[in-house]
Amino acid sequence: MIIFDPSWYIKVKKSQVQFKAPLKDYCTYAIGGPAKELAVALTKEELREYLIDAKRLNKKYIVIGKGSNCLFDDRGFNGLVIVNRIQDIEWKESSVVVGGGYSFSLLGIQASRKGYTGLEFASGIPGSIGGSVYMNAGSGDLETKDVLEEVEFLHEDGRIEIYKRDALQFSYRMSIFQKMKGVILSATFRLKLSLDAKEKQEKLLAYRMETQPYKERSCGCVFRNPEGDSAGRLIDSLGLKGLTQGGAKISETHGNFIVNHNQASAEDILDLIRYVQIKAKHHAGIVLEPEVKYIPFDE
Ligand SMILES: Cc1cc2nc3c(=O)[nH]c(=O)nc-3n(C[C@H](O)[C@H](O)[C@H](O)COP(=O)(O)OP(=O)(O)OC[C@H]3O[C@@H](n4cnc5c(N)ncnc54)[C@H](O)[C@@H]3O)c2cc1C
Repeated sequence: MIIFDPSWYIKVKKSQVQFKAPLKDYCTYAIGGPAKELAVALTKEELREYLIDAKRLNKKYIVIGKGSNCLFDDRGFNGLVIVNRIQDIEWKESSVVVGGGYSFSLLGIQASRKGYTGLEFASGIPGSIGGSVYMNAGSGDLETKDVLEEVEFLHEDGRIEIYKRDALQFSYRMSIFQKMKGVILSATFRLKLSLDAKEKQEKLLAYRMETQPYKERSCGCVFRNPEGDSAGRLIDSLGLKGLTQGGAKISETHGNFIVNHNQASAEDILDLIRYVQIKAKHHAGIVLEPEVKYIPFDE
């Protein structure tokens, strides 16, 4: 189904565009130089304006949510960064429709407090709905796709299209959106009543807090898990926990977390990523692929 309403188009509110905004303030790593331009979109209409404007003026752009899976370059981004802060939420009888900028973690907590099961795993994943659908974020045996019904997507040409879950080619930390241009505006998740949802969510969150360095600046897991193994286990077995480069450090708590320990630069993090990759290849014959999205200055 395609919905297209050209009357939505109104002039971009230039006052909402910031110049040279420090990207370290828009990501969980607290790393990154200035964005040439940065616009925070609070509504679908605003987001659409920014996107159409960027396209019309041939601007380089990226869309981010909470920046919890991004590593920005030390020089920043030579284009427009659109921050999705669309926070609408509508609870229905057996589903919830949530704006792309809403917190995935908060959704997980709220759903389970209301007695719905399925989204417990989201609590503790500090991304937005848009970023979590894009990444097919997951924890334990569950992934975003497992509770998703459909996604509202804004194409670069201004068309809005609804995609049913089965059309989205989900796999491990992968969705069709990683091959498309546009923005996830909202997502609909299935809700199922359960008596122990809250207890399950609290246990999962407590486990995460115990086993991951939550108090430090990070992007979560840096590497995708290799087939049949865990990147954290592998990094631990290579004796790399605690290794530092500049202000970056391989967490002592979890080997797959590289934390911004002391004003790390993006180069410090990238150096550690490359070093771990060389060690994993050389000593275990395993190619470790980054899960974190490095955003170069001139992408
Ligand atoms: C402490 C910590 C723990 C974490 N634990 C987990 C975990 O257990 N499981 C897990 O899977 N991940 C985890 N992560 C990583 C991260 O939270 C997820 O990948 C999250 O889903 C990313 O969402 P985001 O809004 O922060 O995306 P961003 O970092 O803002 O963006 C990530 C990518 O998605 C794209 N994107 C973002 N929003 C949109 C949109 N609306 N439309 C189109 N594209 C978009 C961006 O362009 C970028 O390429 C963790 C991170 C941290 C810091």
